[in-house]
Amino acid sequence: MKSYDVAVIGSGPGGYVAAIRCAQLGMKTAIIEKYATKGGTCLNVGCIPSKALLDSSHHYEDSIKHFEEHGIEISGDIKVNLEKMIARKNSVVEQTTKGIDFLMEKNNIDSYQGVGSFENEHTINITPSKGDVTQIEAKNIIIATGSKPRNLPFIDLDKERIITSTEALSLKEIPKHLILIGGGVIGLELGQVYSRLGAEVTVVEYMDRIVPTMDSALSKEMRKVLKKAGFNFALSHEVQSVERDGDKVIVKAKDKKGKEVSFEGDYCLVSVGRSPYTAGLNADKAGVKINDRGQVEVNEKLQTSTPHIYAIGDVIKGAMLAHKAEEEGTFVAEVIAGQKPHIDYNLIPNVVYTWPEIASVGKTEEQLKEEKANYKVGEFPMRALGRSRASGDIDGLVKIIADKETDEVLGVHMIGARVADLIAEAVTAMEFRASAEDIARMSHAHPTYAEAVKEAALAATDNRALHI
Ligand code: FAD
Ligand code: NAD
Repeated sequence: MKSYDVAVIGSGPGGYVAAIRCAQLGMKTAIIEKYATKGGTCLNVGCIPSKALLDSSHHYEDSIKHFEEHGIEISGDIKVNLEKMIARKNSVVEQTTKGIDFLMEKNNIDSYQGVGSFENEHTINITPSKGDVTQIEAKNIIIATGSKPRNLPFIDLDKERIITSTEALSLKEIPKHLILIGGGVIGLELGQVYSRLGAEVTVVEYMDRIVPTMDSALSKEMRKVLKKAGFNFALSHEVQSVERDGDKVIVKAKDKKGKEVSFEGDYCLVSVGRSPYTAGLNADKAGVKINDRGQVEVNEKLQTSTPHIYAIGDVIKGAMLAHKAEEEGTFVAEVIAGQKPHIDYNLIPNVVYTWPEIASVGKTEEQLKEEKANYKVGEFPMRALGRSRASGDIDGLVKIIADKETDEVLGVHMIGARVADLIAEAVTAMEFRASAEDIARMSHAHPTYAEAVKEAALAATDNRALHI
């Protein structure tokens, strides 16, 4: 039996980053992945394919809606070739997942394909879909088995018309009417892809606003933009049933007055969150506790109830984000190596890759209100920027929330062009505990979307924004 310093179960952004960092720190490392391709949800059926389709559909939307105003005339029809769009997305995924194989080889990490399950607290059985079981042993083990789409108990996912994000990334036709159950991140991103391609899109959301975990200023602005683009919203609606009738899907829900409302579409995407995935792991054989939410229970060092077994990423508590999983992968490798790493979970940014993009870090105004914090707010609209007028991307705003007494930045919330990239400035500022005044006094290149960050900081400090 081969022996390792560390064995990582799962090759998503948590697992493969943990493996690389362990190898960098001189540990003999193995990685075990159930599927033939590495990269987990993120690379195969998550972040990367969804962004590829968002980019492709954005090009199409620009060509039919915005080229003309820029003085670009196209003779002849512009058509979508969905098969080709999906094939391009598949090729982006393939290139990206192959990159992980390259990184494993480069770092001398042994790769095993098959389901990893505990035989005992140091031994793992690896069961491939065909062939014999292999056993390996390791001094330390990292569980990075990720998550899978959550379903509602009364919904029968047929994966043809009543689908999850996985199927939505590979549809064979553009839906005529796509009904989204859940107006969170997946719903809005994939809803926007198909809306741009011509589908009618209806969002049925349980809460009274979309992206309900983010600052409400962002929910409000995004809803306005999507409504203008043709989205229908049924907020404060509790879904009661989803039935298939031939090529139709009928969704029944109760509105906040208890009245039954029915929606008829040809596809229904269930996007009500994701659940931690531990099936087949035999965690109990290693004494690893799973809590009542299905998450692997960990302490502040990300150790499970068996101290040399760690867990990271979507399978534990916290935000289900690729970069959170990556930070935890690095963290655990460094803990095993005897270092004292640190993660500030408050400073993990959250991004929605719609257009306009949404990005956020730190506390929302709703959280600060609940904490009865003494805060002040500075806001700046994107439409007041020269850069926004030049590109035609005038929707959105930057909102900076700072401590009223000390001026320390407590939260930054943005919606607008390229804010997925702009949020890095806010993370850096908050990591160094900057004040709004610090940001306001830094030079921001002109003309850029980043000027909205400086202006919002000026607005937060004595209401002195310059361009509004
Ligand atoms: P995963 O990526 O889920 O990887 C776990 C891996 O473990 C899988 O490959 C699985 O096959 C394997 N595995 C499970 N059990 C076993 C076993 N017993 N033996 C061997 N292997 C096993 N996050 C972002 O930050 N940005 C985005 O833009 C973004 N977009 C997303 C879009 C969609 C449509 C979806 C669904 C998710 C998106 N996410 C995004 C979330 C992101 O994909 C996850 O947070 C991230 O993949 C979690 O990483 P992980 O390593 O914890 O788990
Ligand atoms: P989500 O938590 O973002 O949104 C789920 C939505 O469904 C919420 O608005 C919730 O109120 C609603 N909902 C829950 N139960 C409902 C019900 N019974 N009826 C109607 N609405 C209901 O989850 P998601 O969009 O499925 O995404 C799953 C995870 O994947 C998220 O945690 C997210 O972090 C991650 N993800 C991230 C990105 C990104 O970073 N850009 C993109 C996609 C997914």
